[in-house]
Amino acid sequence: MTNYFADENGFFGQFGGAYIPEMLHHNVEELRQRYRSIIDSESFQREYRRLLKHYVGRPSPLYHAQRLSQRYNTQIFLKREDLNHTGSHKINNTIGQILIAKMMGKKRIIAETGAGQHGVATATVCALMDMQCVVYMGETDVQRQMPNVLRMKMLGAEVVPAVSGNKTLKDAGNEALRDWISNPEDTYYLIGSVVGPHPYPDMVARLQAIISEEIQWQMKELTGDENPTHILACIGGGSNAIGAFYHYLDRPQVQLIAVEAAGKGIDTPETAASIARGTVGIIQGAKTYLLQTPDGQIIEPYSISAGLDYPGIGPQHAYLYEIGRTQILSATDEEALAAAFELTRLEGIIPALESAHALAALNKIKLNPTDRVVVNISGRGDKDMDTYIRHMQK
Ligand SMILES: *Cc1c(COP(=O)(O)O)cnc(C)c1O
Repeated sequence: MTNYFADENGFFGQFGGAYIPEMLHHNVEELRQRYRSIIDSESFQREYRRLLKHYVGRPSPLYHAQRLSQRYNTQIFLKREDLNHTGSHKINNTIGQILIAKMMGKKRIIAETGAGQHGVATATVCALMDMQCVVYMGETDVQRQMPNVLRMKMLGAEVVPAVSGNKTLKDAGNEALRDWISNPEDTYYLIGSVVGPHPYPDMVARLQAIISEEIQWQMKELTGDENPTHILACIGGGSNAIGAFYHYLDRPQVQLIAVEAAGKGIDTPETAASIARGTVGIIQGAKTYLLQTPDGQIIEPYSISAGLDYPGIGPQHAYLYEIGRTQILSATDEEALAAAFELTRLEGIIPALESAHALAALNKIKLNPTDRVVVNISGRGDKDMDTYIRHMQK
């Protein structure tokens, strides 16, 4: 039988692993030894599920979108991660990891953030758990994402601008690693997607798997069958996508489709499509597809949506794509904007620009009237209002 999950060393076929400097070995190894037994423990599960229910607001609804279904002449169900506390799926992961950090006896949380969404989700759970929180953010991003910087500060986090390189996500990541190396005992590094060295991709996938766990019983309740025919999700690093796919990976009758950000187009330099345009290399300690020059320098990605603006893709997704278990499509800025306006007008739901990429794929696949299609609405569009207003038709 095909194995869809990480092996002992965190490999998914040739992808994944932990390509890290010697000085990080102790920190990563400590986490690797502890994470499975903590996640599987009754005390973790009790607290994780209590917080998901009463703090995050789970289960998130699975909503049969009738007007959208009519428009595409099929049956469409929206998984409403946009209704979670803080507005996206990211909180599922930060709630889980802060509990793991606590159970490991850590006192201080560090994170890196690009657009600031993961920083806000991290600062939120640090306030909740009374943990010290330091968020590294490229100086360019600090200026571009002021509302999120202010949110993090109000939540009690210290936001440290990274001033090296392009002053964006990659540089913030380097600063966070430097911090972790200097503070191995009391500090926990909280990564925001299914990226980074093992065990992060596997750990974050397990924490986001709550999404497909719920889809199973919700589909059963709504249609009498646990299985949809298709699941669509957008993909930056890949955490909301793997969360929506997780319990369906070994059911080949369910088509799993991830949609990456084409930006201005996959044939232009302004893209974030790591599968369409990337090659295999190492990024953030894992082997996967990434946007890089022939001599291995990371190419700055571009997408209208800040959350998909990442130069790599989680290693499990690289593997699932390579073995043909998932299909990976792409949507341009224009297509995502059109899909966002369409959902808003048909269903009264303003999606995040990231999630709009998943919706845009409804135009790219062949659907039958009896198909049951789940689209993961990873987040809400409040944060994208400036962009939407700029593109509103007059
Ligand atoms: C961060 C973010 C994403 C992209 O992250 P993944 O790890 O690929 O899920 C997608 N949607 C929203 C709303 C986000 O905030």
